[in-house]
Amino acid sequence: MVSRTTDDYQRMAQSGCIAVTEPAFWAGFDRSSAQGFADYFRQLTEYEPRRAALFGIRHFTWLCINPKEADDPGFAREVISIIPEFLKCNTVLGIGEIGLNKNTKNELIILEEQIALAETHHQLVLVHTPHLEDKRKGTRVIMDALSASSIDPGRILIDHVEEHTVGEVLDRGFWAGMTLYPDTKMTPQRATDVIEIYGSERIWMNSAGDWGCSDPLAVPKARLEMSRRGHTMSLIDKVTLENPMTFLSQSPNFKVDVYKD
Ligand SMILES: [Zn+2]
Repeated sequence: MVSRTTDDYQRMAQSGCIAVTEPAFWAGFDRSSAQGFADYFRQLTEYEPRRAALFGIRHFTWLCINPKEADDPGFAREVISIIPEFLKCNTVLGIGEIGLNKNTKNELIILEEQIALAETHHQLVLVHTPHLEDKRKGTRVIMDALSASSIDPGRILIDHVEEHTVGEVLDRGFWAGMTLYPDTKMTPQRATDVIEIYGSERIWMNSAGDWGCSDPLAVPKARLEMSRRGHTMSLIDKVTLENPMTFLSQSPNFKVDVYKD
């Protein structure tokens, strides 16, 4: 949301959105110092919750150094050292989105150190999987690193699953996330296909909202697509509301009010 306008919050609220969770991620440019990350973490924990609250939306966040800026271990460790202070904020859900970008050795070292950070502080984990032709390989390397830790896979969400990775993610006990985009990566139509093939356990959809082509209303569009195909309202609610709430509620900081009749 740091890259979206206030109008987007308004449109999301009007479409029934009650909560957003914002991963710490790449800002479109590499930050020049660890202090740049401290300022960014303040934006995520102080300013965005206030801006979202103007429209009745709860804003939660994840903290980390993203894989794209984690190829310099010295710099990455400096950033990691400031994260525990921010974990005390009551809108922080866990460590994320961590993962791999180009699958380099340094990225993997920092991934493991951030998994250890989540372990030490008993945090949920949000994982970004690479959008490369070797997505499957990257996803496997990440899952292996996670499985080597003591974190329950039920407390880890592997995001950006696609048709060729979702089965393995679910088989290994992780939650699978489908962040929806208008054209690229995962569309509302493809996400509906995945639900039809793989079912609705430990899987959910959310709208992408970033500085690229993305659509904060992708979830309402996916709900319409599921409805058009004849899926029940209870299935639609499960993958767009109840499953996210089940996973996220494992963090004591996640609290939302859901009004249902
Ligand atoms: Zn991501």
